[in-house]
Amino acid sequence: KGVSEKILWRRSLQMRDQQQAWQESPEGKRMVQFRSTLPAYKEKEAILSLISSNQVVIISGQTGCGKTTQIPQFILESETESVRGAACNIICTQPRRISAMSVSERVAFERGEKLGESVGYKVRLEGTKGRDTHLLFCTTGILLRRLLDDRNLKGVTHVIVDEIHERGMNEDFLLIVLKDLLPYRPELKLILMSATLDAEFFSSYFNGAPILNVPGFTYPVKTHFLEDILEMTGYRLTPYNQIDDYGQERMWKMNKQAPRKRKSQIASTVEDAIRAADFKDYSQPTRESLSCWNPDCIGFSLIEYLLCNICKSERPGAILVFMTGWDDISSLKEKLLTHPVLGDPNQVLLLTCHGSMASSEQRLIFEEAKDGVRKIVLATNIAETSITINDVVFVVDCGKAKETSYDALNNTPCLLPTWISKVSAQQRRGRAGRVQPGECYHLYPRCVYDAFAEYQLPEILRTPLQSLCLQIKSLRLGSISEFLSRALQSPEILAVQNAIEYLKTIGALDENENLTILGRYLIKLPMEPKLGKMLILGAIFNCLDPILTVAAGLSVRDPFLTPLDKKDLADAAKSQFSGAYSDHLALIKAYEGWKYAEIDQGGYEYCWKNFLSAQSMKAIDALRREFLCLLKDIGLVDSNAASCNTWCHDVNLIRAIICYGLYPGICSVVHNEKSFSLKTMEDGQVLLYSNSMNARETTIPYPWLVFNEKIKVNSVFLRDSTAVSDSVVLLFGGSLSKGDADGHLKMLGGYLEFFMEPAVADMYQSIRRELDDFIQS
Ligand code: ADP
Ligand code: MG
Repeated sequence: KGVSEKILWRRSLQMRDQQQAWQESPEGKRMVQFRSTLPAYKEKEAILSLISSNQVVIISGQTGCGKTTQIPQFILESETESVRGAACNIICTQPRRISAMSVSERVAFERGEKLGESVGYKVRLEGTKGRDTHLLFCTTGILLRRLLDDRNLKGVTHVIVDEIHERGMNEDFLLIVLKDLLPYRPELKLILMSATLDAEFFSSYFNGAPILNVPGFTYPVKTHFLEDILEMTGYRLTPYNQIDDYGQERMWKMNKQAPRKRKSQIASTVEDAIRAADFKDYSQPTRESLSCWNPDCIGFSLIEYLLCNICKSERPGAILVFMTGWDDISSLKEKLLTHPVLGDPNQVLLLTCHGSMASSEQRLIFEEAKDGVRKIVLATNIAETSITINDVVFVVDCGKAKETSYDALNNTPCLLPTWISKVSAQQRRGRAGRVQPGECYHLYPRCVYDAFAEYQLPEILRTPLQSLCLQIKSLRLGSISEFLSRALQSPEILAVQNAIEYLKTIGALDENENLTILGRYLIKLPMEPKLGKMLILGAIFNCLDPILTVAAGLSVRDPFLTPLDKKDLADAAKSQFSGAYSDHLALIKAYEGWKYAEIDQGGYEYCWKNFLSAQSMKAIDALRREFLCLLKDIGLVDSNAASCNTWCHDVNLIRAIICYGLYPGICSVVHNEKSFSLKTMEDGQVLLYSNSMNARETTIPYPWLVFNEKIKVNSVFLRDSTAVSDSVVLLFGGSLSKGDADGHLKMLGGYLEFFMEPAVADMYQSIRRELDDFIQS
């Protein structure tokens, strides 16, 4: 031990010398000079001394003041300079992959090193970490997984939890675990960093931990709201456009109290156009108004107009456009690419930035544009606080973000574009003033901004808790509800009960809330349990290839496009994939066709002809690979296999596996004279989204549909469904064994009792039991 300590010690001295040499070099000097201009630098001593005298410290400071890049470095530097050098081991968590990667790269660069020397990163399936790495940036999920094997975080000296103001579910969860750990690891330091000033709240959670605020500096940002933009650009809205696009209806939902008043306020402040719009249609969101959220919205032309205006007549500087989600980004991009100015690569460098992008693609956004070329980045709210795109001078903010919400009463999750909070809007604005005075264009009237909520609701209060509950179980943290009652803000009891119930139904927990073998595998797959279940069964039944496509397809934007002006053509193209009464099987067909075409000639023509999104296809392709890696990682697929050449075409088996994954997402098909209707136990009558393959059928020759998702708008709509037979539901739906049998039978409407001979029912039960045992083993 003495020898290895000596080696470590010597290496740490070497690293210190190396670092000093770098700082003396011309480039190093310039970097030191740059770093010393950051607001965090001025607080360096105060921060370090606060950390040394407290176990928990909270640091807040405006985005860009140097929290993420500087504070971990301060700790690293001060530790390397002290005797403890070799022993320090700092982990800094980031809510997203892209920030973990870009930040570690930046910090290594600031230190004149390559990644994997003193600074490393680790995200799911990727990472660089060397034996000298003392500062590791990772996603929060990675740290949570580490806690699985190493509950006390042995050897870790500092944990820095970044971006706590976002109140992500993982971060909230991690804080409970760390809070419990602190008494057992008195020498472990916990540093929480937030970009907003709500630090008091965290401080009281950690028994009055001290707060240090880094005073920020940004250049002034000129703010324009919609009314100003219209006046400035002379762009004229026609009555419906802006309202369709940015879905005012959500707004009314948010401010249930006084929609009438709001309407009149808007009418008096914004142009005639808005006043003329018929708001009564929007006070109640309908299927139609919701589906207005897509490609050909006229609202995109306002953005286009504005961007073009900036390109032509404003000073140089990149433009950052905050869009709602990936679908909007890709549709807008497609539109802009056809524009004479914005689509011309000699004039504009058009980039996109969102969480699910491949890492090589993500790096592009940090590149600087050539002289005379304007950089435009279309981003989701990921660019709001976690990543810094340096040369931004103009920000365009659509005012929305996709937010998951969850209605515990109906046990129905929703993922909908929602208005952002005031804090988010300020953050977005702040992105413009980093390098010089900037301008921010909010694409909504000021009165709408005034009605925004102050903060966004924390994720733990608005999303289903299934994955979280599994994690709690896997970390052996005791009773789920007791554990969650110690959160910063505890979720509703009903939401917790629903999640536990769900996990029991799908066979991940037994009736005593203990993990089953299946549950143990699900934990190792960082994705929704239903996708994990499908993949596991796909691997077991040697039917992985199509199932990889289904699972990947459920995680990306619907690849079937329906441009409003070419609806008939798109429908016709789509019909060639139908016929199996299944959106999932249609997707498999489309993907296999694309894959075939892609190997040959890139696949674009195929997509074009068949109204498929090439981007979604590529995303599916990438996700399939990722899922396969994960399955290899946990030993369910032979790790030497280059790919999974199990092009299984047994449609019934595929249906069964889909059912195994999606159950209890199931509804019964009730036929009447001319068509059919659908019913679930909890909701009664439900409807299909119009773009579902099954929505074009007049009959469905199966008694059940399993579905991926139901979303409540004013009726309950089902997305992506597959028709399945009785036998499949009986054998693959939920778990028939033990405690769940009751619920399952009820679900089937007493099917066994009423329609089946007792002997046949018994036979099913016994096959079912065998099958369950087989899968669990
Ligand atoms: P915070 O975490 O407080 O929001 P950061 O530590 O991320 O701030 O960034 C501090 C400063 O470092 C930024 O204002 C920017 O000037 C610079 N910076 C950060 N990341 C990069 C990068 N990838 N490329 C160039 N400069 C960067
Ligand atoms: Mg930061």
